[in-house]
Amino acid sequence: THPVYGRIDGPIVIIGFGSIGRGTLPLIERHFDFDADQMVVIEPNEDVHNFLHQRKIRHLQVALTPENYREVLGELFAGGQGFCVNLSVDTSSLDIMKYCRELGVLYIDTVVEPWAGFYFETTENAQRTNYALRQKVRDEKAANPGGPTAVSCCGANPGMVSWFVKEALLTLAKDTGRDATPPTSREGWAKLMQSLGVKGVHIAERDTQARRQPRPRNVFVNTWSVEGFIAEGFQPAELGWGTHETWFPENGHKFETGCQSAIWLDRPGAITRVHTWCPTPGPQFGFLVTHNEAVSISDYYTVGDAGAPDFRPTCHYAYHPSDDAVLSLHEMFGSGKQQTKHHILEADEIVEGIDELGVLLFGHEKNALWFGSRLSNAETIELAPYQNATGLQVTSAVLAGMVWALENPEAGIVETDEMDHARCLEVQRPYLGPVEAHYTDWTPLQDRWELFPEDIDESDPWQFRNVLAS
Ligand code: NAD
Repeated sequence: THPVYGRIDGPIVIIGFGSIGRGTLPLIERHFDFDADQMVVIEPNEDVHNFLHQRKIRHLQVALTPENYREVLGELFAGGQGFCVNLSVDTSSLDIMKYCRELGVLYIDTVVEPWAGFYFETTENAQRTNYALRQKVRDEKAANPGGPTAVSCCGANPGMVSWFVKEALLTLAKDTGRDATPPTSREGWAKLMQSLGVKGVHIAERDTQARRQPRPRNVFVNTWSVEGFIAEGFQPAELGWGTHETWFPENGHKFETGCQSAIWLDRPGAITRVHTWCPTPGPQFGFLVTHNEAVSISDYYTVGDAGAPDFRPTCHYAYHPSDDAVLSLHEMFGSGKQQTKHHILEADEIVEGIDELGVLLFGHEKNALWFGSRLSNAETIELAPYQNATGLQVTSAVLAGMVWALENPEAGIVETDEMDHARCLEVQRPYLGPVEAHYTDWTPLQDRWELFPEDIDESDPWQFRNVLAS
């Protein structure tokens, strides 16, 4: 009953077999035709060996490094075909993507990841931004257009949320009595957002998944990569900077080169709080953790010149992770050191909760529209093995991106904003639980602590100055 979307000839190499790798495997097996003996997993952790061995999947127990990646991948892909599915931390997405394109192999990842050491050894904050990481991929695309498809940043966010932005724009167009025909170019999409009066987008997420046992002290508990979350949490907060903004943060920095769509703040994202909104909690705090999509969405929807645009939306992540992860962050930043014990909540220990992940388009004539997936862990268990709700939102986006790449094998380097969102969501939707649109009249001026004066702009609700919590 599961559709098979196509045949993958040559090896399928999964790099990294953590929470996302493990959840992606059964979706690849379900939805593609390939030779079973062509599946290879590169993973330095020996703990996964038994799992893979029992499934007769080849395990290369090695960590990819700048020194060995060409040799290891070159040998696996010697036949010049196949698919490289990069789901690891600590490997350079750009280097591996470039090499795969050289080999004629399809490529996908869920983040622009650097080699090990980058996040904590780079001393210049501007260099540690996702802006800088992403711009190098964009520069490579500009220098070498076309060629074998390499899909950059195709998880839930970055990834799926870019498809949600388009679906939300069409929903808003329809609900405000406008033409809801999907535009066929980037310029068309940007103009549609502009004409709808959208001022900005929060990637608004509330993860309520929880287990019965309280979080033990000194353990970082999360619903996906702890390493990944700590790394991005310690990067500077970053956001796409919209043309409606009249105020500029004192600790804010612009970029002189590249797409210039985003700014960064001199403060780690995981302790930078913003006011936001999701259907389950209503108003809530989220963390302004830096993410690729904050930069890519504000870039994609720019109308006019990069340096002096006519229109650009503000865009950033507003993430309320699982309660255990909030406590873990609190403990980590308070103590000034990372917990050495890490734990990712497994589907079968989670007793309640959903991952509510969507886009909040704000500032338009209907005030704000949240559009997203409200997938529960309970439903996830019915849909696919080896993952919680957070995982499935990511792995089903990887699946959709792989299908799109197979159907468009010579598209060059692409981000999810640049892919056919309708096709991708068609593939992904069976795995997303309820996908819903919710309008709200909430603005960041509401539900504040009125006894304490704040530096806000009462005349313009959706200024970032009001969104940023003091
Ligand atoms: P994880 O920490 O559970 O697993 C990462 C795996 O990579 C580990 O098993 C680790 O041993 C392996 N690894 C480490 N160094 C390696 C190397 N040099 N070579 C090969 N493998 C190596 O992480 P996860 O939750 O599976 O997430 C994987 C990646 O996906 C992370 O980069 C994360 O940021 C990203 N991610 C993206 C999204 C999204 O929505 N876009 C969501 C979740 C995770």
